[in-house]
Amino acid sequence: MNDVLTLWERAAAAPPDVRDEALLGAAAPASLSARNAALLALRARLFGATQRLVAACPGCAAQLEFEIDCGALARSLLPAPDAAGAHELRHGGYRIVYRVPESGDLRAAANADDFATALLRRCVAQCELGGIAHAVDTLPDEVTDALSDALDALEPGTCVDFDLRCVDCGVQWNAPMDCAAVLYGEVRARAEALLVEVDALARAYGWSEAQVLALSPTRRAAYLQLVGAA
Ligand SMILES: [Zn+2]
Repeated sequence: MNDVLTLWERAAAAPPDVRDEALLGAAAPASLSARNAALLALRARLFGATQRLVAACPGCAAQLEFEIDCGALARSLLPAPDAAGAHELRHGGYRIVYRVPESGDLRAAANADDFATALLRRCVAQCELGGIAHAVDTLPDEVTDALSDALDALEPGTCVDFDLRCVDCGVQWNAPMDCAAVLYGEVRARAEALLVEVDALARAYGWSEAQVLALSPTRRAAYLQLVGAA
């Protein structure tokens, strides 16, 4: 449980766009898929693999609850073994040499007027049509779609999302999950609850924070009940 408090302190001090790195620490992978997989694996280790999520239906605003298995999802998101490095796409006369986007690319592109084009400019090293250089921001949709499919195959976990269907109105939609924001929300809630418990037992028994946190959850719950704080 000390883990949770340490994580919370570290992540609370970080701006939201680098919270994934704050949660994962120095070991945060550059690959976006590997990073999301690591966040889900951390969630499974801290709070268990089964996670209940809630999404609001865009059709009727009903709250839809669903469960995911963070461990299994993490394993399905891992990047292809050859994802890092340069790749070549040939499509309809175009030849594109590119690499997969990393977290630094997303941050750099985040403030651009056109996010998708800014990302392409960073990750495309060469773009040619019939052997002549071609601007990446005027690629036809079918080429950018082919590039997007190729990126998905290399980095299946860049975006984590779920295909949902509302049981009330039948609307189907795709709900994205910000793995870092969801995990931080849980870490913060657990940390705040722990501090309330430490406060109650420190007042009642004069124990230090370390002493309270060293108690097993079962003993801590029993003492909290004894002092009327649970
Ligand atoms: Zn609905």
